[in-house]
Amino acid sequence: MLAKAPKGTSDILPSRIDYWYYLENIIKEVLQNYGYQEIRTPAFEYTELFVRGIGATTDIVNKEMFTFQDRKGRSLTLRPEGTAPVVRAYIEHNLKRENPLVKLFYLGSMFRCEKPQAGRYRQFNQFGLEAIGSPLPIIDAEIISASLAIYQKIGLTDLSLMLNSVGCRECRPKYLAVLREYFLDKRDSLCPDCLLRYEKNPLRILDCKKEQCQKIVKKCPSIFDYLCEDCATHFLKLRQYLDTLGIVYQINPLLVRGLDYYTKTAFEIISGELGAQNAVGGGGRYDYLVEELGGNYTPAVGFAAGMERIIETMIKQSIKIPVWEGIKVFVATTDASYFVTALEIVNQIREKGIAAEIDFLGKSLKAQMRLANKLKASYVLILGQEEWQEKKVTIKDMVNSSQEKILITEILAYLQSLFLKKESGKS
Ligand code: AMP
Repeated sequence: MLAKAPKGTSDILPSRIDYWYYLENIIKEVLQNYGYQEIRTPAFEYTELFVRGIGATTDIVNKEMFTFQDRKGRSLTLRPEGTAPVVRAYIEHNLKRENPLVKLFYLGSMFRCEKPQAGRYRQFNQFGLEAIGSPLPIIDAEIISASLAIYQKIGLTDLSLMLNSVGCRECRPKYLAVLREYFLDKRDSLCPDCLLRYEKNPLRILDCKKEQCQKIVKKCPSIFDYLCEDCATHFLKLRQYLDTLGIVYQINPLLVRGLDYYTKTAFEIISGELGAQNAVGGGGRYDYLVEELGGNYTPAVGFAAGMERIIETMIKQSIKIPVWEGIKVFVATTDASYFVTALEIVNQIREKGIAAEIDFLGKSLKAQMRLANKLKASYVLILGQEEWQEKKVTIKDMVNSSQEKILITEILAYLQSLFLKKESGKS
């Protein structure tokens, strides 16, 4: 157990890290282009924030939160999602003072005590974007377009956008009543969880993945027959904007998503490459969340995506990413008595922004050359007795095996000119 990561968690090893750097850079670049600024909130919050924000009838709040008490007995929860914390920060710091429309994004670990399976983990990373302050469907279109721009920039294909409206305070209660009516004589065929959902929030039944429930859900009344005029117009306008942007979508009246705060627009992006857990991201409008968490009524819309699932899709689609070029220069010594000079040399090379390495294990020169080879260093600087006496090092070109001696004082200028030559040769 000691040398095993907890269930549902995993290490991101150096062999995968380039994917993360690549993805994180694209997220920042694209979202800044769209005018979103990064916010970083704590990894845990007071439990009440999520209960109020996400909704007491959701699976997340009922079954999946990592909740604990601090020493004073206050209940805290590792954040299962990013929207409620961002909204909490928006209210706490009165961010609307600076701008009536606040556009934020975040990246970070989320925690849900789910049954682990491919694409579903207990600690996973999400990025998300939130636009707080506008009721207009044009901002819904922007959130969708910004999210898709990230996938596009990464080069992902085979993605579909599913779109729905889940109504508002006006029309949703009417639809819930219709759903209760519809499920009334079918309750015996629903799973135990859905029986509870029937009592508390029948909309949640639409999100049940169990086959027995899905069969019944498939034929249930469509929310589109019950949307109020405001919600129907909002949806229509959003569709117009998406059409203008050339964004293709499928309307799915059963899409409700796993969080209670959504109103009007709900959407999900799914990948054809992934199995059961095929959603690479999802979002929607949450017009009452700011109010629910103690602020004034402030309409808002957002999106969140699972980064592990994106990386899994990137790997499946063999997306090429820039990789770290590795160690360029290895400084080898024939004896520990040259370590001080070798340390100075390696340090100066690194200060010039050239990745350099040295032996820390007291290896023989032969073993150091093997290590330099393994690291794919372009050059090895050898410091031995002869070189030491001449105040020089031997510089060996690892590609063509040529070597020459240069003065220690000239190493930096020499290396820089070599790398400059290589760079210009590349272009
Ligand atoms: P949600 O916050 O539930 O709307 O989820 C947004 C996205 O986060 C999903 O579309 C997934 O890509 C990802 N996600 C949610 N839960 C998990 C999990 N347990 N493990 C990995 N990714 C997840």
